[in-house]
Amino acid sequence: MAHPSPDPDDVGPAVASLETIVSLAKRRGFVYPSSEIYGGINAVWDYGPLGVELKNNVKRAWWRAMVQERNDVVGLDAGILMHPQVWITSGHVGSFSDPLVECATDHRRFRLDELPGAEHLSATELRDPAIVEKLGLVCPVDGGPLSAPRRFNLMFKTFMGPVEEDAAIVYLRPETAQGSYVNFKNVQQSSRKKLPFGIAQIGKSFRNEISPGNFVFRMREFEQMEMQYFVKPAEAAAIFEDWLPRRFGWYTKYGVTESRLRFREHAPDELAHYAKKAVDVEYRFPFGWKELEGIHNRGDFDLSRHQEASGENLEYFDPATEEHFIPFIVETAGGADRAAFTFLIDAYREEEVRGEKRVVLGLHPELAPYKVAVLPLLKKRPEIVELCHKLRADLAFDTMAVYDDTAAIGKLYRRQDEIGTPWCVTVDVDSLEDGAVTVRDRDSMAQDRVPVENVKRLILDRLAAARAAGGES
Ligand code: ATP
Repeated sequence: MAHPSPDPDDVGPAVASLETIVSLAKRRGFVYPSSEIYGGINAVWDYGPLGVELKNNVKRAWWRAMVQERNDVVGLDAGILMHPQVWITSGHVGSFSDPLVECATDHRRFRLDELPGAEHLSATELRDPAIVEKLGLVCPVDGGPLSAPRRFNLMFKTFMGPVEEDAAIVYLRPETAQGSYVNFKNVQQSSRKKLPFGIAQIGKSFRNEISPGNFVFRMREFEQMEMQYFVKPAEAAAIFEDWLPRRFGWYTKYGVTESRLRFREHAPDELAHYAKKAVDVEYRFPFGWKELEGIHNRGDFDLSRHQEASGENLEYFDPATEEHFIPFIVETAGGADRAAFTFLIDAYREEEVRGEKRVVLGLHPELAPYKVAVLPLLKKRPEIVELCHKLRADLAFDTMAVYDDTAAIGKLYRRQDEIGTPWCVTVDVDSLEDGAVTVRDRDSMAQDRVPVENVKRLILDRLAAARAAGGES
């Protein structure tokens, strides 16, 4: 039986307490609890003005790496609602479930593998009906006895059409991948792609998680970034290995500390029965090492099953060898919320500057909600304010720029540091005379005097340099 053991090579998290990030996110407008004025709804979160920028930037960076910079991957945006047969064929109706246990005294429900003492159980142990008894597990809240585990299906159901009857039941998709499988032929034929090629999708997915939590780590409504790469069966194993460093490198390229990332290969009894191999990219969150993204060699399971159930021929014809066959699929399955959360946590740092605490989000400039803030040194001087607005409008034509005059300059800098704005431009009295402004760098706090007409070029060049650093993703 597997037991939890301290890992001597473990590294510390970027922040000791999740609360630091949760409160920053709320205070500065990254993430709010959904429907908060009604007391909130469990495991749904709303992205505020800065959060929506950060998440959009994360999605854009992923799309850039997975679609824009590649000649062999194309995009798709399939519906959230799909033909219900899709989920029967995929196995989700039958077995997309987690082991649930219930406390006999307070009736709280828990996911078995998240109970203290059960986190390291193998997949076989998790299926053992006597496991609660064998390990003497009790309710972590009141110590009450727990039921034997039962499987709980995670799919949300709803009704399509005006009559609420069984025939009209549809599911909110629990993953985006199925949209890519059922569109394999459409995409392959319309884009004239030859193997190997991929279909990338970003979109909402829904799971009725038993024990959501840890802020946006596990939600009931979330966004996925998934790519299905269709390959010749004989090439699948090697192509799978190629994707591992590429996906790991995407996180480091955009700023995640390498020592807080690791690979974890799934044990044989953890693998889905059809899966050939699965490796997770994990991050050291404040609550432990957890999955960020999964890379899976799914074999020919998906297309074979859909071919069989739909009666449509989903084989690929290889003109070189004149063979017909079902492609294998190598999948990279990540989450936009989980990635944005990771970038946020890993960017957080507290420093001491001249005896004062400075909170900085050292976000990669591509991910930062605002690239540049334009600040007046004296808001009482209309010429200064006017020049600021002109400059902001010019910058905003090409990038996210913000104006702020609601505090003294020192405080304005600190506020921008705390939300990760890489550059601040300050207009002062001298600017009116010499036509130059001060550009301040978030990380080094270095200040350069720059002619106002050169500011935009400078910011755009610095952005391009940051994007190019680390090479192609
Ligand atoms: P877990 O074991 O944590 O439940 P999973 O292995 O079921 O996750 P996948 O089905 O492989 O996850 O989903 C791919 C990715 O989608 C995950 O790596 C994660 O980034 C994201 N994801 C999955 N479920 C959630 C969720 N409830 N909330 C936020 N993101 C999620």
